[in-house]
Amino acid sequence: MVGEARAPVENAERLWMLCAEALRNQVNEATWKTWFDGIRPSWADDDHVVLSVPSSLVKERLESRYLTLVRDVLADATGKHLAIRLVVDTDGAGAAVEPARLTPAPRDGHGDRAGEASTIAWPANEQAEPAQAGSVEPDYTFDAFVTGPSNRFAHAAARSVAETPGTSYNPLYIHGGVGLGKTHLLHAIGNYVRDNFRGRLVRYVPSETFLNEFVDAIRTNTTPAFKRRYRECHLLLVDDVQFMEGKEGLQEEFFHTFNELYQTSRQIVIASDRPPNSFATLDDRLRSRFMSGLTATVQPPDLETRLAILRSKAGAKTATEHSDVLEYIAANVKDNIRQLEGALTQVLAHASVYGQSLTVELAEEVLFDLFGSNQPRTITPKVILDAAAELFGFNVEELCGTSRRRPLVTARQISMYVFRHLTDYSYPAIAREFGGRDHTTVIHAVEKISTLMKEKRQIYDQVNELMARITNGG
Ligand code: ADP
Ligand code: MG
Repeated sequence: MVGEARAPVENAERLWMLCAEALRNQVNEATWKTWFDGIRPSWADDDHVVLSVPSSLVKERLESRYLTLVRDVLADATGKHLAIRLVVDTDGAGAAVEPARLTPAPRDGHGDRAGEASTIAWPANEQAEPAQAGSVEPDYTFDAFVTGPSNRFAHAAARSVAETPGTSYNPLYIHGGVGLGKTHLLHAIGNYVRDNFRGRLVRYVPSETFLNEFVDAIRTNTTPAFKRRYRECHLLLVDDVQFMEGKEGLQEEFFHTFNELYQTSRQIVIASDRPPNSFATLDDRLRSRFMSGLTATVQPPDLETRLAILRSKAGAKTATEHSDVLEYIAANVKDNIRQLEGALTQVLAHASVYGQSLTVELAEEVLFDLFGSNQPRTITPKVILDAAAELFGFNVEELCGTSRRRPLVTARQISMYVFRHLTDYSYPAIAREFGGRDHTTVIHAVEKISTLMKEKRQIYDQVNELMARITNGG
């Protein structure tokens, strides 16, 4: 019913007449008066509906609360999923939106990127957003993030950015050593924005993934899609930007993405292991962009914070019944929260598979196995792969290869799990070490082994043995 010979403005009016009644029946009178009454239809064609609203407050509220409802009603009326765009029209002229300013929605289902900050495109199809690449990890939330003097400022900055994306600090640049919560904070911002601002496109990307996608896009002649994917985000979270060091083409591309987003008040958050001014080969323009917002650091946590983190991970029951064990771990694993978590997991798993009680002696034993003496040796991909090959009786090529024979697959998955737990490599980086497979394979392997370790003593023993050989050089 939309389209055909009628003018888009007339189309919009007819369509809205049909829909307004249906909407009115679904909300209460006060809601209708406050949020819906001021809507004026401006434009409708085969792909779009443009609605004018009287203020940005109304626009925000409609977008955060009622867009699904409006979309459903429009879909009922037209039998199609139309991209809805809300435009603030303060002078109340109704059909004041110039059709010239509208570009058609691309057919792949992504909303088009609006030319101005105040218009937010809405994906016509919820499937449009890829489920894996670019998505945030639901477990990394602000609620799960324990604060202390070492990370309080970074946490507050992250929260502020999440609550008012694009308007408080842009970009937010978080830096600090490995395993101190940078990635966690990035995802927490992503989760918060996703939960509280419906319709905002959130994208998390490790800089290596950005690089790989960029290279692929050039190879397959799909750079426009690549650019669009990144430039349409409302919140872009870029992790581990130190990997951009020395890659000029990549820095150039990122610089343009950054500018586009920045100029339209889209929020950018960056994490790195070092401050922006200590990159040796960072494009000066990019460096000054990185430094133009707010910079926050995460430091190694003090004893009290480490203990609080262990308590929150162990759960209330274990925390009360075994506070001595937690205190022992907190006192001995000092400068990396990932290792702190890892130590706790190992101790709990050990007690559960061997039916032993949780004691400080047990923790002592497990920690010794894990970290050996206090002189950890340098763990490189080669060290891990060699140790795994030796332990499982395969060679490194087989571990990194594609054969799906059962014992080999398990050995490979265990190796990936250990890799993840003993190094700071991201999933894509690990995937590359294992012959350049997809990073979701690594995520799957790590999850699978975590589960199996709790159920099968054999797997638990193999993981431990491999970790011990790697960390003790034995
Ligand atoms: P980074 O990116 O700085 O290397 P991550 O964000 O990956 O570190 O953190 C490593 C692990 O430690 C993650 O599992 C994360 O959930 C956990 N972690 C880090 N900081 C905290 C914190 N303040 N509270 C709770 N867990 C934390
Ligand atoms: Mg990280």
